[in-house]
Amino acid sequence: MKPSLPDMAELELHELEAGLESGGRERFHARQLYRWIYRRGVTDFGRMTDLSRTLRQQLPTEFAVTTPSVVADERSTDGTRKFLLELADKRRIEAVFIPDTPSMTFCISTQVGCAMACDFCLTGKMGLVRNLTAGEIAGQVRVLAAATDLLDRPFNIVLMGMGEPLHNYDNTMKALRMLHAEHGLAVSPRRVTLSTVGIVPGLERLAREPLMPNLAISLHATTDEQRTRLVPPNRKYSLADILDTCRNFPLKKRSRITFEYVLLDGFNDTPEDARRLVRLLSGIKAKVNLIPLNPAPGIPYDRPSDERVGRFAQVLADRHVTVSVRKSRGRDIRAACGQLIVEGGSKKSAGQQMALLMR
Ligand code: SAH
Repeated sequence: MKPSLPDMAELELHELEAGLESGGRERFHARQLYRWIYRRGVTDFGRMTDLSRTLRQQLPTEFAVTTPSVVADERSTDGTRKFLLELADKRRIEAVFIPDTPSMTFCISTQVGCAMACDFCLTGKMGLVRNLTAGEIAGQVRVLAAATDLLDRPFNIVLMGMGEPLHNYDNTMKALRMLHAEHGLAVSPRRVTLSTVGIVPGLERLAREPLMPNLAISLHATTDEQRTRLVPPNRKYSLADILDTCRNFPLKKRSRITFEYVLLDGFNDTPEDARRLVRLLSGIKAKVNLIPLNPAPGIPYDRPSDERVGRFAQVLADRHVTVSVRKSRGRDIRAACGQLIVEGGSKKSAGQQMALLMR
């Protein structure tokens, strides 16, 4: 096997500058390389025409640039595209392109599988296989931006694919810095939303980050008893702990924390639940995003009727809480929230997992 070379896809701009410099090269090549890799989607050094011929020949013997490969690209009738991506170790993840919401949005994974085990989420059934590296997280954006022809146009990123971003904190934040780099894709943190079950130490770290994405909290319930059933980490980080942390979270002017609330028929979707939600959020600059469940085999809940969803939303609106209902995009190709799952989970074979899910 070829000895493995340092992977440029894992390097922040300043690390690449240092790497080049220690090899006796000029730092400014790092900016050229970032422009090719991120802005033009070119990873083959031979095609980087503003580098000298010598450099084009030498770099491949010193560095690799690893990019997730597209194994499948499924299109939904609503324009949503689900990409099945393969990583260097053959593990697979999914990433989703959602057009016109009204922006273009990439929904990106941060882990292979997920350890949180939320009761209504298919990814949770896989267990955690491994963390993604920073290069693999940023690499999904490179691949999707190239595939959708958006390399030089603005897009949003939501960290709402597979995995819990605060459970892979360092790699996630490093990926955001790589995507933010001026000579690369220059993604503004205002265009990034990090969605989390609410791991309090992670939220406290996030509060001190210089590069601060928008925050979305997967709340889903209004009592600890209810929430612990749905989101097991609630045993450790209770509603009160999470909401206190949110109350103290530094927010930019006019910005708010999004609270995601998956509506499960007859479980957490009564007007009483809605009123409790209003009380819990008082004093927090909040907006609520209701997500009617995307049902799946093996998920022990149903999606409520549009009428029930409407009634819940109305209770919030009547009490001046900003509320929106998330449209389920790409349900026909299982690209919607909580429907991302790929073969080869940690605990059971894919066949076993599917058999369990189909019961
Ligand atoms: N781990 C992070 C991000 C991934 S999930 C988090 O939990 O926030 C993105 C959103 O989809 C979360 O709010 C999650 O609770 C929600 N979700 C998961 N399964 C779902 C399902 N079957 N139907 C609707 N939303 C779901």
